Amino acid sequence: MPSSSELPAPERVMVFDLDDTLYLERDYVVSGLTAAGDWARARLGLDRLGPLMRERFEAGARQRIFDDSLAALGQTATPALVARLLAVYRQHRPRIALATDATRYLDRRDAGTAVAIVTDGFLDAQRRKLRALDLFRRGVRQAVCTDRWGRAAWKPSRRAFDHLEAAFGLSGASFTYVADNPSKDFVAPRQLGWHTVRIVRAGGLHAEVRAASAGDEADRIIESLDSLD
Ligand SMILES: [Mg+2]
Repeated sequence: MPSSSELPAPERVMVFDLDDTLYLERDYVVSGLTAAGDWARARLGLDRLGPLMRERFEAGARQRIFDDSLAALGQTATPALVARLLAVYRQHRPRIALATDATRYLDRRDAGTAVAIVTDGFLDAQRRKLRALDLFRRGVRQAVCTDRWGRAAWKPSRRAFDHLEAAFGLSGASFTYVADNPSKDFVAPRQLGWHTVRIVRAGGLHAEVRAASAGDEADRIIESLDSLD
């Protein structure tokens, strides 16, 4: 990954969240459940587990999908088995693609604008998503996985945002953060004086989430990255 110091200094930095901002997180979940189901079929002979887990997710289940699906097939969901399924899920190679408006944005941005990413989530999984989306080849300068510093650095922590200000040698209003979840995404960037934009995608897992307080909501709400300046 090129370090920002080897490249010309940008005038401004557009920082994006990853899940449900640049691609649809549900595609990742389906991809991961398929990988876990394939593992269960090959290792345990459980042909129905993958389809059943995907059906539960599509029906709205967000918790205990492994446990409940195993139980529905008459299997004991031992902690070791659930941990193994979770490891396969987090370590699979995701079959995901950038949203078409995200591709258009990365292709049309001007030369004075650098692009970076701040994403929460388990380090292994987030790194595999970044690779699958080929974001560095598309000109993303810095991708910060908050989990590299541990769980305490996940949003709403300021850690990743402070890190980017130092890395680019810019501050405050030179930055814009574009993300989808007002319960955590905009707290730190607002404290630092960044511009904030919430994207509400059809099919986004947090499309219905409301900010805990008006002060946590973004300055602006859009439905497509085509609306970004
Ligand atoms: Mg997100």
